[in-house]
Amino acid sequence: MVSFMSLSFKADVTGPWIVTSGGNIILYSRPHNYSKSNSPDSITIRQILNEQNHAIEYINRVLLTNYNSKVQIFLYNLDEAKDKIGTNAGGFVSLNKSQIFFPYFENPNKYVSQGTFVYLGIHEMVHIITKKKVGFPKSRLFGEGFANAIDGTYGRASIYDLMKEHVKNGNIIKPLDLLEKPNIPDIIFYPQSGVFIKWLFDNYGIANAKRLYKVKRTKFVKKFKKVTGDDFDSMTDKYLKYCNSLN
Ligand SMILES: [Zn+2]
Repeated sequence: MVSFMSLSFKADVTGPWIVTSGGNIILYSRPHNYSKSNSPDSITIRQILNEQNHAIEYINRVLLTNYNSKVQIFLYNLDEAKDKIGTNAGGFVSLNKSQIFFPYFENPNKYVSQGTFVYLGIHEMVHIITKKKVGFPKSRLFGEGFANAIDGTYGRASIYDLMKEHVKNGNIIKPLDLLEKPNIPDIIFYPQSGVFIKWLFDNYGIANAKRLYKVKRTKFVKKFKKVTGDDFDSMTDKYLKYCNSLN
């Protein structure tokens, strides 16, 4: 799962493509026999269109937004994905163009995020909707954390299962470090940012979380009190207690 913050990779969108539309989604997929990896058939294409339209509705419900614009999804065959989009493990987005680039995994995700999102999941769609409806994220914690919180998976595993492992190993990252430490590896940062932001949704409300999403890192601790009425240290204590209760 590539972070859009590190996005300097430019996807190669050279055809041929099969273009299929439904609802808000325009899906570009490879024709039959395009490469050694399988391309999605028409039934799978339909399922993906349904899934991603459903993802938009789901995210709108969670974030109390009303995103209703088109999203282009470029679905690469697995054996070409690394060359064309720089990864065959996850996807990334172009926020300015509302485009998602993703490898086509033939086998649906068995660690299904939110019960139904088995092909592409909803992580990348969260980036597109937050950018348009909430604003440009001012920190990696909020940018990725919103996507991980709403999707609930990382690398096709539940962020809570991953978090429990970190808790067991005494490796809980404090909110301030999640906010400020630049080099936390993805395998630790993604689940923990998701668990933290989901906890924030549940304890301080979506409206406050959306306000905090737009706060600069350097002003965050002070603004947190202003937005929520709670001070940062007391929030941190409560969050750490919550993490330790997860096992
Ligand atoms: Zn992301």
